[in-house]
Amino acid sequence: MSQSSREYKEKRVTPGEELASIEEFIPGPGTYVDSDNGVIRAAVEGVAKYNMLTRTVEVKPLKVLRIPRPGSSAVGMVMQVRHDVVLVELYGEVRLQPSPLWLYEYSGRFLGAIPISNISEEYVRSIDDYYRKGDIVLVKVINGTNPYHLTTVDPPYGVLYAECSRCGATLEPVNPRTMRCPKCGLVEKRKVSVLASSRILKLELRNYLMIPIR
Ligand SMILES: [Zn+2]
Repeated sequence: MSQSSREYKEKRVTPGEELASIEEFIPGPGTYVDSDNGVIRAAVEGVAKYNMLTRTVEVKPLKVLRIPRPGSSAVGMVMQVRHDVVLVELYGEVRLQPSPLWLYEYSGRFLGAIPISNISEEYVRSIDDYYRKGDIVLVKVINGTNPYHLTTVDPPYGVLYAECSRCGATLEPVNPRTMRCPKCGLVEKRKVSVLASSRILKLELRNYLMIPIR
């Protein structure tokens, strides 16, 4: 028997699962004591580690896998605009209510698609008038498997950040269908998110995506 197996015992546990009594072990991080009976229980899903020397027990939480969830809002970048679909690389989840907030980055890179019918509530003749490659967009995730189906029909969704196709400056939102370059004056059509002018969300995105947002 190795030294470590005499010193430690481990098992997978779920929240609320009984680990030991307070007579046997000292409760550590990731545990709580049931005051009714003095039972130490797991507070989180993870691996319970029993230190047989110090007589402490703790639960190491499992690493949470963060993937796009159906009905959630996500931020991504337009990778490709085809004649009937926009392909978006999804970066992370955003909360919209009560105020916009970047929640977390996904555990990996995920690809989503906005079909032409899900771009806007109006009839879309040419997708180029709504999205361009490189735009940072806010989208709603419809399903829970890869590839993800996305929609931007509702007003919160659409372009958050776009660059002028002539000079590369950051475009400013003018109205729900128009952005304008403050440097060269070029006016470009987009499906603009109502949150494109949200200072809170922009500041958070600047930190996470390292976008040069003023
Ligand atoms: Zn410009």
